[in-house]
Amino acid sequence: MVKLNRVRVIELVEPDFFGTTLNHNIVMVEGGPSGGIMMIDTGLPGYLDEISKYLDAWGFSLEDISDVVVTHWHPDHSGNAEEIRRISKAKVYAHADEEEYLLHPRRFDLPYDSVKEELGIGEEEFQETLRRINGISFHPVTVDVKLKGGENLAGFKVIHVPGHTPGHIALHDGVVLVTGDAVRAPHGEPSPPLAFFSWDYVKALKSFKRLLSLPFRYLIPYHGEVVERW
Ligand SMILES: [Zn+2]
Ligand SMILES: [Zn+2]
Repeated sequence: MVKLNRVRVIELVEPDFFGTTLNHNIVMVEGGPSGGIMMIDTGLPGYLDEISKYLDAWGFSLEDISDVVVTHWHPDHSGNAEEIRRISKAKVYAHADEEEYLLHPRRFDLPYDSVKEELGIGEEEFQETLRRINGISFHPVTVDVKLKGGENLAGFKVIHVPGHTPGHIALHDGVVLVTGDAVRAPHGEPSPPLAFFSWDYVKALKSFKRLLSLPFRYLIPYHGEVVERW
């Protein structure tokens, strides 16, 4: 767990993701717009117990989450949003262009050739992961507050960064930049989203460059390491 003043990061892991272990950085911010904790992205279904244990260690509980910001609809980000909404009566925030996908999650239809090109994994491993991620079921997410970019949430500005998905957002308070999947940072190296997983890769590259041009001290990607700039 990384603690950055009022911002804390819960790190969870997803094994067997196209031949690697993928980490998930769930960000918790004290002093959310509705007064409790603002949670940025929610992890895969099944993670709730672990999230609850982290909160417990900090003297909080799931009920203390008052606002849930979903950077985009993918199940590793939105998987527990509706459940937390139900448990804590938290408000869920997402970009208006993402709502349709949150209500009706799509299946991933990925061509093996492009995955092989980017990750160099065998077809069997590819099919296994694809089956698993398409088998993830989660509650469709009700969006209470539709965003369009430019809003201020607990001192964080909402930035619309389309590409990985149409309504992907990032959050920036001048010091901390939370990027969701718009920036990955495997081994601490900022990288654009995986091409085969992106809705529009040209837009994704543009958004990636835009985010890296912002002033920040800490960049928190959802997958990878926290990047610290001196
Ligand atoms: Zn994603
Ligand atoms: Zn992701």
